[in-house]
Amino acid sequence: MSNTRSIAQLQELVQALPEAERDRFQRIFRVDSTVGELRAPEPMHDWIRDYFGSLEAVRRQHIVKVTNLITVEGALFNELRARRPVETNDTGDLSETILSSVGDPFCHPLEQTSEDVFGRVKGKHCVTASNVAKYDGFSGVVVFDEHDPLLFNAEQVKDYVDTALAWARQAHCVDKEAVYFFLLWNCLWKSGASVLHGHAQMSLSRGIHYAKVEHLRRNALLYRLGHGFNYFDDVCAVHRALGLGVDYRDVRILAYLTPIKDKEVILLAPRLDDDMKYAIYKVLRCLVDELGVRSFNLALHMRPIDGVPEDWKGFPAQVRVVDRGDPQEKPCDVGAMDLYGNSVIASDPFHVAQALTRAFASQD
Ligand SMILES: [Zn+2]
Repeated sequence: MSNTRSIAQLQELVQALPEAERDRFQRIFRVDSTVGELRAPEPMHDWIRDYFGSLEAVRRQHIVKVTNLITVEGALFNELRARRPVETNDTGDLSETILSSVGDPFCHPLEQTSEDVFGRVKGKHCVTASNVAKYDGFSGVVVFDEHDPLLFNAEQVKDYVDTALAWARQAHCVDKEAVYFFLLWNCLWKSGASVLHGHAQMSLSRGIHYAKVEHLRRNALLYRLGHGFNYFDDVCAVHRALGLGVDYRDVRILAYLTPIKDKEVILLAPRLDDDMKYAIYKVLRCLVDELGVRSFNLALHMRPIDGVPEDWKGFPAQVRVVDRGDPQEKPCDVGAMDLYGNSVIASDPFHVAQALTRAFASQD
């Protein structure tokens, strides 16, 4: 893969694909490119040069709009936005902030967190708690032994996922109708985490899966009915053809073309096995160590853990991870455009893919 690829060239890269690959791309994605132009008054020039490098960079801006026609997700890419000035909070050194909160309730989970009606599940590196303010009937927390949310190794990540799954099986024993498992990991306050101490959360729902997972299941089902192919296989093939996909054994890792926010990576695997857990660890470390991510959201989507009437055939285990921006920056990374229009993206999926390729080339 050429190091010079960028999202600005997406249209040309698609045109250069072999016909079958191009057809597959166009079945799922649509690309619209445009140039935004402006005139800046002279008193602005120095300020523009300081932040954006040159007047020309701002005068003509290349915008790429990518739409996933199947899931109807949309992204607007303009790398220039990453360079715009942003007000920062004076929150001091991040590692000092993390250290200063040692001794919080999650440092003493057995005394200072609630337990579920079936008790706690103990992992090698974590223990479960019952969420004190629940978002569903079964709503739990995996409290990591490690306080620092950015310190994790492969064994710990596997243990966190295994412990959450063991928790789900216990909850399912209490209520056989609770079958829709959801796992999430919010890291640092920009992600919405209310506790700094490392933790993940999980729930087990009834009746119907969470709306966004059900939305994906329905759209993938319609794709299969309409085109005769598995949506997930096709979306992976499209990313691979463009140099945006990396494989680790049966796990497919994508620098996603319609990310919900910056640097989003999607992992897909036939099932949530140890290879997938290792790949999750590798992706998270790559985001934190190579791409400077500090605050992130991770979510796991998977088939129900017991029988249900609706069709989940071909639905993989899917993990999505997204950067939530610099913890020192004051504004939230998500605005009205992201919530109600298209996601506005400052990162380049080709840059993310290069980092992922390097990360998976070294297996530690
Ligand atoms: Zn702690």
